[in-house]
Amino acid sequence: SAAPLGSSVIPIVNKLQDIFAQLGSQSTIELPQVAVVGSQSSGKSSVLESLVGRDFLPRGSDICTRRPLVLQLLQTKRKPDGSEEEYGEFLHLPGKCFYDFSEIRREIQAETDREAGGNKGVSDKQIRLKIFSPNVLDITLVDLPGITKVPVGDQPSDIEARIRTMIMSYIKQPSCLILAVTPANSDLANSDALQIAGNADPDGYRTIGVITKLDIMDRGTDARNLLLGKVVPLRLGYVGVVNRSQEDILLNRSIKDALVAEEKFFRSRTVYTSLADRCGVPQLAKKLNQILVQHIKAILPGLKSRISSALVSVAKEHAGYGEITESKAGQGALLLNILSKYCEAFSSMVEGKNEEMSTS
Ligand code: GDP
Ligand code: MG
Repeated sequence: SAAPLGSSVIPIVNKLQDIFAQLGSQSTIELPQVAVVGSQSSGKSSVLESLVGRDFLPRGSDICTRRPLVLQLLQTKRKPDGSEEEYGEFLHLPGKCFYDFSEIRREIQAETDREAGGNKGVSDKQIRLKIFSPNVLDITLVDLPGITKVPVGDQPSDIEARIRTMIMSYIKQPSCLILAVTPANSDLANSDALQIAGNADPDGYRTIGVITKLDIMDRGTDARNLLLGKVVPLRLGYVGVVNRSQEDILLNRSIKDALVAEEKFFRSRTVYTSLADRCGVPQLAKKLNQILVQHIKAILPGLKSRISSALVSVAKEHAGYGEITESKAGQGALLLNILSKYCEAFSSMVEGKNEEMSTS
């Protein structure tokens, strides 16, 4: 099955890629990057892992993410026997395939220590990891160190400023989607995540609020007002999630069990019943998928005009030879026709007129 992130977008992208493959060119669909920001231990790595649906990131109550991790998901073809092979490869270890995802986590930790030392040091030098899987969308996710105020271990006295600069260098890019992660048991009005996201994206067009740790709020309190945007409004809104606790990590609880537990949590709390569309990792994935679909819609006209001009130049070339090759020109026209029809169907699907568009 597909990872939560991408499930509804993968068929759309695949169809477009098929069209481009017939034209002999590679995919031109560049999806935006997704980066997580927030304070240390707010649950950033946990959220990313849940979206990918695999266990492979260092997580914990101490500072774990100490270098930016650029995670490139790459869709592979399913094997002829239907088996689903998933593996990772690091830029710093070319050719070495990691089939065991807990080994990926150990290598991230080891490579973090190699560059940033073993004593809580932080470095802005990236770790680059590719995950190959038939179940993912071609998209890049960035796990970033959290904002921290008081230097510990080998951290320099200006650690906070350094980390802020590092985070900004990723999220200031206009194509970067920002997941601003704040734990529910802290004050949203003082959220580092929302503050830094607001600096990078003042109009809030590419910031999604994520509220973690709904399970460990003070008794008698709930996150309704946070999720409704009544505390800090956010254009794209909020999603509340329940990730694995430190105890779950120590007990090696699987991501699948965690998603089941999360669903049970929201089902058993009546305060969240009317907010079902703002609760849970699957809803966060859905929100992201919708944004990606909108993005694809926005770039379709550009793709169309590229095909058109490619057609014109082919026609000119043939005219230059003094012979019109019916087949080539015909093929191009046919493709343009397919793409145009596809764009129309896609646009009406995005506008909700035709939910059932076939992508096969
Ligand atoms: P990061 O530093 O922001 O990447 O945070 P991590 O994902 O490493 O999580 C930090 C700690 O918080 C870990 O011990 C997690 O188990 C715990 N944690 C994260 N999210 C939740 C949550 O929703 N509920 C509970 N109970 N613990 C969480
Ligand atoms: Mg982390």
